[in-house]
Amino acid sequence: MSTPSILNIQDLHVWFRVYGGVMKVLDGVDFEVNHGEKVGLVGESGCGKTTTMKSILRILPRQAIIPKGKIIFQGHEVLTMKWRELQELRGQKISMIFQDPTAALNPVFTIGEQIKDTIKYSGIAEKDTETIKNIAIKALRDCAMPDPERIMKNYPFQLSGGMRQRVCIAMALATASNLLIADEPTTNLDVTIQDQVLNLIRTLVQEKGTSLILITHSLGVAREMTDRIYVMYAGRIVEMASTQEIFEKPYHPYTRGLLNSIPKLTGEGMMVGIPGHLPNYLNPPSGCRFHPRCDDAMPECRIKKPPFIEVNNGHKVACFLYKG
Ligand code: SF4
Repeated sequence: MSTPSILNIQDLHVWFRVYGGVMKVLDGVDFEVNHGEKVGLVGESGCGKTTTMKSILRILPRQAIIPKGKIIFQGHEVLTMKWRELQELRGQKISMIFQDPTAALNPVFTIGEQIKDTIKYSGIAEKDTETIKNIAIKALRDCAMPDPERIMKNYPFQLSGGMRQRVCIAMALATASNLLIADEPTTNLDVTIQDQVLNLIRTLVQEKGTSLILITHSLGVAREMTDRIYVMYAGRIVEMASTQEIFEKPYHPYTRGLLNSIPKLTGEGMMVGIPGHLPNYLNPPSGCRFHPRCDDAMPECRIKKPPFIEVNNGHKVACFLYKG
């Protein structure tokens, strides 16, 4: 019996009105997360990962247009939700950890005020100040913050980058939401604490049974953290499989390129990058958006968009090299 999905995105298109025209960023994204599952969304910076996640919370900038697609969360269509339902979704059901903890925290309020407000508006506790304070302290303690009572009195600028990110994780997990979206949560942190933060997220989602979407440009991080991986290129999902299968048997030329770009600790073989860069979304390439960078490109790749087909037991790929 298949596990029911908590989130189901179908054929999502997101465009942005800009001075020079319309940027067609997302071009038919299909994405699914099951209950308690840890899913990675991997691709180069600028490929549309954050746009996909911001669409789920409906926090895209005003220039964004969604001409087509569906986002179903726990059976409800997010794109047609009213303001009140959206507030409930953002406060109680889905939490997001952003890349930059400094921008995510308000500099003029103490950590305590911010974390207590998050808990209060999430509706998980009655408006009893003592209960809310205790939940906040526990959340900080769960995130391995030393002396949480003192941290509650600090302002964000008084904490290091790693501690600010822990505060954001504490806020995200204190609300007991069903889905946690972590958008490059370690990009702005020192290498020494990246591992600690990832371990913390992994342990906490495991304990609480929360579903996780981890957005990352690093396949190495996705390998450590996820059960299943979606690979995205220029606003399209190009491959999806279990994490093990993506590493053992990658099909799409872009996924193979990403894997070849990972430095090898053993020193065997040189790492090879993917030549070229992401296309201009004002005028994206016709057919397969990857064709200008693909060594295997064929004439049909320039004309038609490759369908996303199953090639092997749940492993899907969008490439004309495979016929399903
Ligand atoms: Fe390369 Fe063609 Fe496959 Fe696109 S569809 S990845 S251009 S072979």
